[in-house]
Amino acid sequence: MEQSPLCSCGTEETIKHIVEECPITKFEEGIAKLHEANSEAINWLNNLEIPL
Ligand SMILES: [Zn+2]
Repeated sequence: MEQSPLCSCGTEETIKHIVEECPITKFEEGIAKLHEANSEAINWLNNLEIPL
């Protein structure tokens, strides 16, 4: 089994971590807003350098 890649902050890189937990990539409006896919959320996704 391959290990999960690590996030820039050194924690295991999971979607939950990236969106909700990471001090570097966290989406401040929260995952609920992200699911609404508003323009701010789309901008945030586009600015992430991590392929989801
Ligand atoms: Zn992180």
